[in-house]
Amino acid sequence: MIPFNKPPVTGNESQFIQQVLASDKMSGDGPFGKRCQEWFEKNLPTKKALLTPSCTAALELAAILIDIKPGDEVIMPSYTFVSTANAFVLRGAKIVFVDIRSDTMNIDEKLIEAAITTRTKAIVPVHYAGVGCDMDVIMQLADKYNLFVIEDAAQGMMSSYNGKALGTIGHIGAFSFHETKNYTSGGEGGLLLINDEQFKHRAEVIREKGTNRSQFFRGMVDKYQWVDIGSSYLPSELQAAYLWAQLESAELINSNRLSTWNRYYHGLKDLAKAEKIELASIPENCIHNAHMFYLKVANLDERTALIDYLKPKGIMAVFHYVPLHSAKAGKDFGFFHGDDEYTTKESERLVRLPIWFGMSEDEVDSVIDALKEFYL
Ligand SMILES: *Cc1c(COP(=O)(O)O)cnc(C)c1O
Repeated sequence: MIPFNKPPVTGNESQFIQQVLASDKMSGDGPFGKRCQEWFEKNLPTKKALLTPSCTAALELAAILIDIKPGDEVIMPSYTFVSTANAFVLRGAKIVFVDIRSDTMNIDEKLIEAAITTRTKAIVPVHYAGVGCDMDVIMQLADKYNLFVIEDAAQGMMSSYNGKALGTIGHIGAFSFHETKNYTSGGEGGLLLINDEQFKHRAEVIREKGTNRSQFFRGMVDKYQWVDIGSSYLPSELQAAYLWAQLESAELINSNRLSTWNRYYHGLKDLAKAEKIELASIPENCIHNAHMFYLKVANLDERTALIDYLKPKGIMAVFHYVPLHSAKAGKDFGFFHGDDEYTTKESERLVRLPIWFGMSEDEVDSVIDALKEFYL
């Protein structure tokens, strides 16, 4: 049985969780939470890192931070998870979907400018599979039209573009520590990066239910009170303890996933050469984190047949996403700008293979063998 994913466990998680249980504090921003945040601030680096209960929560916080109002337009790809759009729809924005590039499945940076109007407030690039979008072009557009860039780097921890960590290039970055991502904080979790000084203070307030409680704890004010809108965007210290064990092994997890990814890539090269399948292409200026190993087959029917072929062999291959613009809520809250040349077509051809921290070489090889049999 080869599942699609196994949540990463490095060995120190239960010890750190025990330490929290033995202490007298379990709520957010305890010693493990602070340690994690300092790790991100130093290693990515960024001006401020705030743990959140999910990437969804981090994106919601970002939408509040940049003051999204009804009628504002936000540009993003349609090929993404619902939270990328929902966070802005919750503030009243209209979502403007732009087509993707077929090589990376990322938003096509060349199509963004034509979708910008006087109502456009932000661009939300999604770094699919932990491979960077063309951030130079996106940041130039943001500069030219005075827009905010919120990076959905949910899948991008430890990846970089032109030497800069994903999530640190736009004004704000959001990451996920859900159990299906490379690092987890015990099943659910997320991170908000503040790369633009102007958002540092308000981000803390919104995250603390709209109060200046963080300043109070630092001794900067003598009582705390309600000062702004906000919500509860703090994860518990138990989640931070789990995450800290993963961050201590950040390089180990990354290199292990990359060797699995490379083994797949080399094992499947012949099938790609014979034009049976297509493999991912990583732009020269991007370093990826092996978040995902996907391949593309001829069409939807072939994908269904392949997944059905692998299942009785105990191999769980999966696909995603239903493009947001063709989903019910996507039609209600947004529209596709320009032609859908690749979004629908490429999304129907994509299959994700099993990959997790600690996957054995034998397991990888049996998936490769099964694929070769299918195409025999
Ligand atoms: C996983 C994911 C999210 C949501 O992350 P949660 O932590 O589950 O909220 C958002 N965007 C993308 C691109 C994702 O892959």
